[in-house]
Amino acid sequence: MKLEEIRAAEARLLLSTYDRSPVLFVDGDGVHVMSENGAKYLDLLSGIGVNALGYNHPAIVETIARQSRALIHISNLYYHDGQAELALRLTERTGLDRAFFCNSGTEAWEGALKLARAYAGLRRSEGAPIGTKFLALEQSFHGRTFGAVSTTHKEKYREPFAPVVPGVEFVRFNDVADLRARFSSEVCAILVEAIQGEGGVRPLTQEFFAEARHLASSTGALLIVDEIQAGMGRTGKWCAYQHYGISGAPADRSSSVGWIHPDITTLAKPLAGGLPLGAVLCTEEVARAIHAGMHGTTFGGGPLACAVAIAVIDTIEKEGLLQNATEVGAYFQDRLRGLARRHEAIIDVRGKGLMLAAELDSAELAKRAVAEMFKRRILINCTSDTVLRFLPPFIVQRAHVDTAIAALDEVLTENAGAPSESSSAGGHRHV
Ligand SMILES: *Cc1c(COP(=O)(O)O)cnc(C)c1O
Repeated sequence: MKLEEIRAAEARLLLSTYDRSPVLFVDGDGVHVMSENGAKYLDLLSGIGVNALGYNHPAIVETIARQSRALIHISNLYYHDGQAELALRLTERTGLDRAFFCNSGTEAWEGALKLARAYAGLRRSEGAPIGTKFLALEQSFHGRTFGAVSTTHKEKYREPFAPVVPGVEFVRFNDVADLRARFSSEVCAILVEAIQGEGGVRPLTQEFFAEARHLASSTGALLIVDEIQAGMGRTGKWCAYQHYGISGAPADRSSSVGWIHPDITTLAKPLAGGLPLGAVLCTEEVARAIHAGMHGTTFGGGPLACAVAIAVIDTIEKEGLLQNATEVGAYFQDRLRGLARRHEAIIDVRGKGLMLAAELDSAELAKRAVAEMFKRRILINCTSDTVLRFLPPFIVQRAHVDTAIAALDEVLTENAGAPSESSSAGGHRHV
């Protein structure tokens, strides 16, 4: 089928959940994807932060070929050799002790919420006064299933499905006083993304993160960090929380005592380089709450997805991709700041490693910029209305950044608002 036929068929046959760009992709290589008519696109979004090694990476292709000849699926009724090996790699790199594997981000987050409630129940049975409430953050995004959507801030995601799961309160983002005011022994967990993704690529402040850790520890509540978008090396460290030192000191992966430790973290998007896989990681203490039969999944942590995830981690290390994310990410951010100095429309540049954003002064311009970049065959997206988001594959190089910056420069020049003298008078720019 051709693009037009597919569009017509989808419009008739699918639930209209997506507003797709009009392109039919058929192939990919490295940081590029190719459309049916042979046009080559530079992908700085990597399937929403999923394709960590880009397209057609031999480590992934060969692992899929090898593992699919052996076992693709076996269920969690039996052993296979992937889960323990993957859990070992993940626990070593995150400072957590145990893993549960599932199929997606939202499912990992559901697992984390259930684990927190089960742990609070266990603590109550041991005499601790601890409630069942969740504190989530404004602008948070944790997924689309009921628990996840209940802890997701945006009204439009929750409201059509009301009533959502009760017992969730939202704290103003990075507002320490609001966090303190809402925290009590009623709270069983504080839920954060170290760097909010869909909410506009917004990092937690050191002060807020440290206070969340401190408050949770003071009552035995849990600190749950959603690393589904920021984790697995995108920010230059395995998890974005590893950038946050306990006492404001710079955090360092080599000394796991240095950074703020969550009690639970969740991983998904880039975990298996494009195959669906999610993980819940937790401490030994929290793991006490789970016994056989309490939670599970048919597909989760299957042999194929686990084998690919192991290959992704090994490739990230072999090819020095954490370093690449740090270096190319810093270069990218620097070039965006350079653009911001010349374009009034860019009011902020932020992010870490290869999780980056340029916030524009208008939602309409942001939408137009994504479309204009698309015409120039560069894939980015817009989140939180005004924020241009860049989530390139970890293999991206400076030359790709230069291509994107040149294109964005052109787009912003061509679309510069005519009455720029009057519209740029506000003092709200952060760059
Ligand atoms: C994408 C995302 C999710 C949901 O993951 P899905 O795989 O789409 O269910 C949850 N949390 C964060 C931070 C995300 O970016």
